[in-house]
Amino acid sequence: MTITTDLLNNYVGGAWTPAAAAVGELDVVAPATGATLARVPLSGAADVDAAVAAARAALPAWRDVNVIERARRLFALREGLIARQEDLAQSVTAEMGKTIGDARAEVARAIEMVEAACAIPTTMQGRVLEDVSRGIDAETIRQPVGVCAAIVPFNFPMMVPFWFLPFAIGCGNTFVLKPSEQVPMTQRIAFEVLDSIGLPPGVVNLVNGGREVVEGLLDHPDVDAISFVGSAPVAKLVYERAARSGKRVQALGGAKNHMVVMPDAVIEKTAAGLIGSAFGAAGQRCMAGSVVVTVGEAHERLLPALTEATRALGVGDGADEATDVGPVISCAARDRIRGFIDAAVEAGATAVVDGRAVAGDGLAEDGAFVGPTILDGVTPEMAIAQEEVFGPVLAIVRAETLDDAIAIVNASRFGNGTSIFTESGSAVRRYRHQVEAGMIGVNIGVAAPVAFFPFSGWKDSFLGDLHAHGPDAVDFFTRKKTVTSRWFSDGQGSGTYFVER
Ligand code: NAD
Repeated sequence: MTITTDLLNNYVGGAWTPAAAAVGELDVVAPATGATLARVPLSGAADVDAAVAAARAALPAWRDVNVIERARRLFALREGLIARQEDLAQSVTAEMGKTIGDARAEVARAIEMVEAACAIPTTMQGRVLEDVSRGIDAETIRQPVGVCAAIVPFNFPMMVPFWFLPFAIGCGNTFVLKPSEQVPMTQRIAFEVLDSIGLPPGVVNLVNGGREVVEGLLDHPDVDAISFVGSAPVAKLVYERAARSGKRVQALGGAKNHMVVMPDAVIEKTAAGLIGSAFGAAGQRCMAGSVVVTVGEAHERLLPALTEATRALGVGDGADEATDVGPVISCAARDRIRGFIDAAVEAGATAVVDGRAVAGDGLAEDGAFVGPTILDGVTPEMAIAQEEVFGPVLAIVRAETLDDAIAIVNASRFGNGTSIFTESGSAVRRYRHQVEAGMIGVNIGVAAPVAFFPFSGWKDSFLGDLHAHGPDAVDFFTRKKTVTSRWFSDGQGSGTYFVER
């Protein structure tokens, strides 16, 4: 991809616009090399105002564009994104670090979100019941919520914004996106595509920045709905502050995902699933499994295969097609993750694979690399078993029975995703029934979002009611209006629903 040290623009009212009220600037740093890719403005209150005003001004005309035409814009968006698919993937790898294969998969998932949103003329339909009383009908229609804003994390620069944007505009809302200031470049490409598909100015807007932009959106009287994805403490803050100003809000937070391995699991495939989950995207997925709970003799069966396959993983620049594990997002994240491993070893865990001092040919000195790490002998009360590390670190905890394993999983304050590896239908049935999490994998390491289904966690991993995408997206991005009607002129509307005085 082209490296530019330009200061990135915002996209407001259909035009690329410099931040007029920036409170600062940051380097966008490639995690594999430490090179500066661009500079990002930390936009200020006036920039938020300008974007929200553009979105508000565009709202009446956009909601009056017929829904079939709105869906056609989404078809055009799909085509435009497909044409830039490889640019988008290269950008994800350059600014976030994940491997190019993983980045291509992320872009494909984002395009699937647009495909799901193309069904808006069907999914946005209301419902009608004839004759709630004689000659009286009741119907519920759905209308857009208004100006919707999304605040997103660094780990999926392309996909997470698209959990919201296509559904929001398909339902007739206008939209303001605040990308992560650590990875703002991929959305620049996505917005170049959005700029080319004939949307009226102001339907989609992008404001680069950090906390000031977030707080500006949360407090803004002209923003009606907030979608947030990020860490648990910020999710809580966003949820409380947006609710205080009367907004509709969904806030997806952090995770600590457990993967339970039963004694009858198919070991080779299970090890591959665990490794993909724990070390894919260098452990920086909200669905990454970070604790394996082995039940009974699963521990002895699993460990040799798991450690051997982990040692064989190649760490390097994600742009190299041969790399299995890319860098983490920044040197600060690398140092934090190493600190978690140090503390776990000090607390009594054994690093059976230790990635703290990863080195090798082709690893840039300024790269943010941590090798895949497996910690055995972890107990549920250790910090490494409880806190989100968000790096390539897998903790192994032993349990005697499935019930013990379920108790360990359910003791977590998080409930994003969890997996069970077994060939036993009854174990799966019990696990699915009892476990407290929003996304469940059965012999699947990453219970990844599927565009056509709702996606979210439970407990501290999610604050709100309506999950992301799938049918929940239409519920989140529309308001329901129920109309009861009768007609007098031909004498049919003779019923009464309530006794009228
Ligand atoms: P983060 O919480 O640091 O940042 C998320 C967004 O919030 C960014 O846009 C950032 O600018 C903004 N922000 C950060 N601190 C803020 C503050 N004090 N006030 C207002 N705004 C603030 O998260 P991150 O490090 O970018 O992303 C990683 C986290 O996201 C992990 O915890 C991961 O589990 C979580 N995540 C969750 C999901 C999910 O579906 N539940 C998906 C992806 C990532």
